[in-house]
Amino acid sequence: MEHMDWKNLPFGYMKTDYNIRSVYRNGKWGPLEISDSEYLSVHMAATGLHYGQEIFEGLKAYMGKDGRIRLFRWEENAKRFIKSAKGLIMAPVPQEMFREAIFKVISLNKKYVPPYGSGASLYIRPLLFGSGAEVGVKPSGEYMFVVFVTPVGPYFREGVKPVDMLIIRDVDRAAPKGTGTFKAGGNYAASLRAIVAARDGGYANVIFVDSVERKYIDECGPANFFAIKNNKYITPASESILESITNMSLLTLAGDMGMETERRKIAVEELAGFEEAGACGTAAVISPIARIFDPQNNKVYEFCKDGKPGPVSMKLYNRLTGIQYGDEPDPHGWITFVE
Ligand SMILES: *Cc1c(COP(=O)(O)O)cnc(C)c1O
Repeated sequence: MEHMDWKNLPFGYMKTDYNIRSVYRNGKWGPLEISDSEYLSVHMAATGLHYGQEIFEGLKAYMGKDGRIRLFRWEENAKRFIKSAKGLIMAPVPQEMFREAIFKVISLNKKYVPPYGSGASLYIRPLLFGSGAEVGVKPSGEYMFVVFVTPVGPYFREGVKPVDMLIIRDVDRAAPKGTGTFKAGGNYAASLRAIVAARDGGYANVIFVDSVERKYIDECGPANFFAIKNNKYITPASESILESITNMSLLTLAGDMGMETERRKIAVEELAGFEEAGACGTAAVISPIARIFDPQNNKVYEFCKDGKPGPVSMKLYNRLTGIQYGDEPDPHGWITFVE
């Protein structure tokens, strides 16, 4: 792939050579099959199309300086995929089958793993949906598991840049005891009105608040929220957010760096006292937040005066990406090599 302009790769879909599929039928999973087609043949009455029985995962493979391909905490994605499947009454993909599928699809598409130093990586997208034909509302008896990969460029091409966020109270992404804790496509569909409204207003993304009291911070669009104050890493506890593996890792790294960590409810007004704020997830790792606008009282909370990310956020960002690309030691055993 010498001809590829890795440094200018967008964060989007690009065709690769192969993907992996398997079908669950008559109570068991079929073999993992390799396909070179980008298309699936799906029954028009599949529950995934009608009733939203669909979940997914997202993880990345990174090329190290040593030419070895690294996967970051894939077991956590496998576990979350099982949790999400159970949450939507779908046939879960066993962890060992998940492992085999992702390692196989990476190996088959090795030439698409962007080189070290490009800031790019190979994004891996496992998905699972109800593929059985049903018209009544009930779980499907048949499921399709697909894993494809696509090389993605660095989220911040010009270096990490703080973004503006908008608090939205007239759209809920998820409710407590709803499906917010599962990585379900339906949650994204539910969040689009808010995301589009925020983008139209010139904001990078939306901040959802809890849907009961509309008082506490839930999530930042498709990423978790965190804040830094007095050498403390603070992130919301909520029944309606998706537990981010990036956030889990940052909590651990913050602890390693001698910071205190707290997972608790965060009232919107508390934003006034935070030194740094950010969104975290696999795509960007950390998106530092410059400003948050709350339209309810016309208030702007500012976290970066000079347009630069805060020092603690940068330290966490460098530490985590350093582990992912193999530039830093991996004391927690988060990396698995793909041979
Ligand atoms: C995937 C996702 C995240 C980020 O999770 P990571 O495991 O860090 O990638 C956060 N919020 C939502 C709603 C998500 O779907």
